Amino acid sequence: MKRRKFIQNSLIAGTALGAAPFACKQKKDAEIVILGGGYSGLYLAFLLEKAGREFILLEGSDRLGGRMFTHPKLGRDVGGRGIGDRYDETMALVKELNVELIDITPYMNSPTSIYYKGKLYSDWKDRATNPRMLEFILPNKTEELTSLTGWYQRPDLDIKYSELLANAGRTEEEIDLINISSNYNDVRETSSMNSYHSKAFRKFNGSKSIYNFKGGTKAFIDALVGKINGKLITNKKVTSIKSDDTNAIVTCEDGSSFSCSKVVSTLPFSTLRDVDLSISANPNQKKAIEKLPYTLITQIHLNATSAYWEEDETPASMWTDTPIERVMDFNPSPDHKDLVCWVNGKGTAYFDKMSDKEIGDATLKILAEIRPASEGKVEYLGTHNWGKYEFNKGAYVEFGPGQAVWFEDMIKPAGNVHFAGEHTAKASRGIEGAAESAKRVFEELVA
Ligand SMILES: Cc1cc2nc3c(=O)[nH]c(=O)nc-3n(C[C@H](O)[C@H](O)[C@H](O)COP(=O)(O)OP(=O)(O)OC[C@H]3O[C@@H](n4cnc5c(N)ncnc54)[C@H](O)[C@@H]3O)c2cc1C
Repeated sequence: MKRRKFIQNSLIAGTALGAAPFACKQKKDAEIVILGGGYSGLYLAFLLEKAGREFILLEGSDRLGGRMFTHPKLGRDVGGRGIGDRYDETMALVKELNVELIDITPYMNSPTSIYYKGKLYSDWKDRATNPRMLEFILPNKTEELTSLTGWYQRPDLDIKYSELLANAGRTEEEIDLINISSNYNDVRETSSMNSYHSKAFRKFNGSKSIYNFKGGTKAFIDALVGKINGKLITNKKVTSIKSDDTNAIVTCEDGSSFSCSKVVSTLPFSTLRDVDLSISANPNQKKAIEKLPYTLITQIHLNATSAYWEEDETPASMWTDTPIERVMDFNPSPDHKDLVCWVNGKGTAYFDKMSDKEIGDATLKILAEIRPASEGKVEYLGTHNWGKYEFNKGAYVEFGPGQAVWFEDMIKPAGNVHFAGEHTAKASRGIEGAAESAKRVFEELVA
């Protein structure tokens, strides 16, 4: 990890901090420099432009969209793709951009087979013992969901998620099973706050319908980018941010630098921690930037050349206790399936050491062992590993026990450096969380 320099709050007012680097630049390159061209950065750019404000957006990779990513080689979305009818900010934008959606609600609850302890079940009748449902159907009521935005203010729930599950009567063996597919690195290390936030989001902002973008998330991102006239610059990996709270200089890996009055970082903290920071971050913000964990996700994409699930009369979507974890169908069309093995958390380590070819071979072998009917009827397309992907190093933020107390402070501006992005959303999650955060920072900037 690179050296990081945080300047103490107390130093800011007292010294002529950074007088040399800032004073020499006469003219600023832009009023605002936005770091990161994912959805939150782009939406912020869109809002600022509408308000007549000047900005430059710097994106480190060679494309815009961030975690909303239609992979060119796979021709499929590998990141965020599902939006709900209660994603108010995003839905309003979808309407304004005139982007077409596909209603996938009918396919959300399509049947899932279970492969458990060497046996394939085409159906698991008893929901209470279904290994896939153990996380969701809790014997005792454990969390009282009181509000949408107060999830980080519930110290009573800031315990290991496994503890909460055990308090609800789950055995260690059941907790192991929950760990296979719950959306965390390890339920024995993550805080129950994460699950509280997800559940509260569903309860208080519960969408009735779920949509995908027709043509993939690329169609949405392209439409949004098409509406922005300001500078969106790719291949600008940010390596340092220096700010004296009035002026700031952002430097990129290629040696270029940009001076401005305000910086907005939408970089996930998992990559911001590699940036050399001379900013007046508060103590909790520093801890959050340095330490917040991100959930590891590896997606292994497959193409079925023939409907082997009709042959063995077992749903193609599958929960398994093998290294391929879950097999999902990403295509809402009834006559075609885009199969994806979705491997979460510590389970990703199994494939991390393998070459691309080894991942493909290992996956097809496991699948053929589980489903002999699939042998010779499935092609390996490729893998996207969010944990190893340089510009994210994880799929989404995941608070460990004792870390949610940082939340309120970590989203505050550090002088003239503001923070947006999924990880800074109070109410919403995922894609809508990114939009919510952009709107919040827009309001901070225009206030
Ligand atoms: C596998 C997966 C599935 C998901 N599914 C859903 C879903 O169905 N529904 C939902 O609502 N949400 C989903 N999400 C979450 C959703 O995609 C994200 O919350 C959202 O896209 C995040 O947007 P963002 O702008 O905050 O971050 P990002 O999109 O990550 O944007 C940050 C940008 O910063 C850039 N960057 C990073 N480091 C640097 C640097 N040093 N210099 C310059 N640029 C840099 C990155 O390249 C990136 O473009 C999913 C996410 C994943 C990974």
